[in-house]
Amino acid sequence: MTAIEPDYWKSQYDRLKNEFDALQNRLQRVQQENQDLKAKTGEDVATQPVTSPTEFEETLKRLVVRVAMILQSEKCMFLLLDRDTGELVGTPPAFGFEDGHLKSIRIKATEGVSGLVFRTGQPHIVEDSSADPRVVKDFVDATEMRNDLCVPLIIEKRDEDNRIVDRQTIGVLHVLNKRYGGAFGPEDIKLLTVLSRNAAAVIAQAQLFFEVEERVREVEATIESSPFGVLMVNTHNGITQMNASARKMLQAKPDVVGGDYRQCIQNEVVVDAIAAALESGEEKTEELTVGLEDAAHYYQMQTAIVRGEEGEPIGVLAAFNDVTEIRTIEQMKTSLVSHVSHELRTPMTAIQGFIQTLLEDENEEWYDRDTRREFYQIINQEALRLRKMVSTMLNVSRIEAGRILETDFQMHDLPKHIGKIIAFQQPYATNHTLIVDAEDELPQIEYDEDMIDQVLTNLVSNAIKYSPNGGEVRIKVAHDDLDRQVRVEVTDQGLGIPPDAMPKLFQKYTRVDSPGHKGIAGTGVGLFLVKSLIENYHHGKIWVESEYGHGSNFIFTLPYRQPEKPMDETEEA
Ligand code: ADP
Repeated sequence: MTAIEPDYWKSQYDRLKNEFDALQNRLQRVQQENQDLKAKTGEDVATQPVTSPTEFEETLKRLVVRVAMILQSEKCMFLLLDRDTGELVGTPPAFGFEDGHLKSIRIKATEGVSGLVFRTGQPHIVEDSSADPRVVKDFVDATEMRNDLCVPLIIEKRDEDNRIVDRQTIGVLHVLNKRYGGAFGPEDIKLLTVLSRNAAAVIAQAQLFFEVEERVREVEATIESSPFGVLMVNTHNGITQMNASARKMLQAKPDVVGGDYRQCIQNEVVVDAIAAALESGEEKTEELTVGLEDAAHYYQMQTAIVRGEEGEPIGVLAAFNDVTEIRTIEQMKTSLVSHVSHELRTPMTAIQGFIQTLLEDENEEWYDRDTRREFYQIINQEALRLRKMVSTMLNVSRIEAGRILETDFQMHDLPKHIGKIIAFQQPYATNHTLIVDAEDELPQIEYDEDMIDQVLTNLVSNAIKYSPNGGEVRIKVAHDDLDRQVRVEVTDQGLGIPPDAMPKLFQKYTRVDSPGHKGIAGTGVGLFLVKSLIENYHHGKIWVESEYGHGSNFIFTLPYRQPEKPMDETEEA
């Protein structure tokens, strides 16, 4: 697991904020342009900058009514370009149309009179819809059109000298059915062109407004759902933002926004760090502990000054990253060193003791040949035990470093192998009965001897170790010709495993935290290695069944044969 730098969150925040600022600047510019346009055209329909969705709606409503009145038409509507579908879509408000009906009016931006006006940017009059080949029949039916004037909705960007620097067509404006049996003429075109320019400006402004609003919502939702804790305080000590993660980490109430951070946040380290940032501009990284001992959580906090457009400080951002898992693993690694040293010391003491005894008997007078041989056997046994421990640790560290272990697959007699493991473990199983219960006529199995030795040694020594009151340790071997695999079960009558410890049992540094288990020395890496050797190196499966307080049953499967290696690998070898 790698720690995510708190800087990461700060940069995400900065990015979103920059985007948001840019949108707001654009909005202000458009509002300004709109004002300028109003000053230049003298057209009183041009509006004040829109500041809310209702205002936008109202402004446009007034505008369509006014357009319909000025042009003496029965209906007036906007068709705006939907960039996703490439269609011109009826968009409220309109005059003479129901909103629901209006929204169902759609036409491709390449079709009909609307498409023509949209593409060419030129107005168009339809004198008689039944005689004009350019109108689309469906559109005539949907709008009940007799005659029509359609103009483009164009946004123009101008420079300081009032020169047009950019033009964008965002849709078209239709006025339909001249009243009193009249027809639209050149004078109407002139009028509607001016009015449509105002309408386009209002729509563009509103679209930007909604865009900004949506971005704000997006930024807020992103911050709220971030796994990092985010807390923002303004220069008046008020909390302006505290997302769900931060509230959970600092155990704060949901309604802290607007409150004084010194009252809403109980953690002194956080309060001091924010105060330091607010008062003297000091940005720092600190670690805090929340909760007590076993249930403690560790958070890395980084404070940063948030600056306004002119670079002036406008508040403080504190980002929190949960580093509990990293710290727990670090603590486990530290205790691993002491556990390993402890475990290695036991066989080493025995070896040294027996060698010293033998050395002291310089003339080989004190101990007869058989006793000396027994001593040599013990030394040999303990040296072998040491070697097994060291190779377990070495394999764990190789796997941890992402290295692939070398394998040497050969055919083996598994029950015979298990017999050797049992004989090896017997001296440490003073009050246990070790039983091998293997089916007759088991086939030879292909595996790496050292690896399966480590698997069996770990499972059998655990079964002995975690049955402090003795009992039976049974190793059962059965075969399954259908699936072409053997199934090995190592069963004990010891402490068993509590259900809540089961899911993580095969993970590195996991040790059961029960009163019975706690006093038994161990490193918490054995089962992790066993799982990797079985599942990653032998195409087998391993799992455990246990009734807490009544023993455990570790079960693994091994296929009769390991799958062939790919050709190129074999050739290389
Ligand atoms: P350790 O060196 O601690 O024994 P392992 O990885 O071999 O490490 O086992 C992880 C943990 O699983 C042990 O610390 C112990 O709590 C639990 N465990 C393993 N085998 C047994 C078993 N046979 N009975 C009860 N608990 C067991």
